[in-house]
Amino acid sequence: MKMSATVDQCALCGGALQPGETILEIWKGKELIVIKDVPADVCQQCQDAYISPEVSEQLDHFMTEHKQHAPQRYLSVPEYSAAQAVSESV
Ligand SMILES: [Zn+2]
Repeated sequence: MKMSATVDQCALCGGALQPGETILEIWKGKELIVIKDVPADVCQQCQDAYISPEVSEQLDHFMTEHKQHAPQRYLSVPEYSAAQAVSESV
């Protein structure tokens, strides 16, 4: 997720951006918050999403008061530690 108002090309791969939607995963301390269907310009090649300053500002505001809103649903996600995923001998 990048924030820029003026890009029309993906900074990662140079692919074309088109209006679309993305899912944001935001860590707030130890709490993970997911916001889906966020309007963004999405790279047609690597799916990297670019969010406008206007939307970003609204998201920042929402994150300060999200507890006043009832979430649509709760997700259960698997969590692993690096000890399981990464071999120390590498
Ligand atoms: Zn890209």
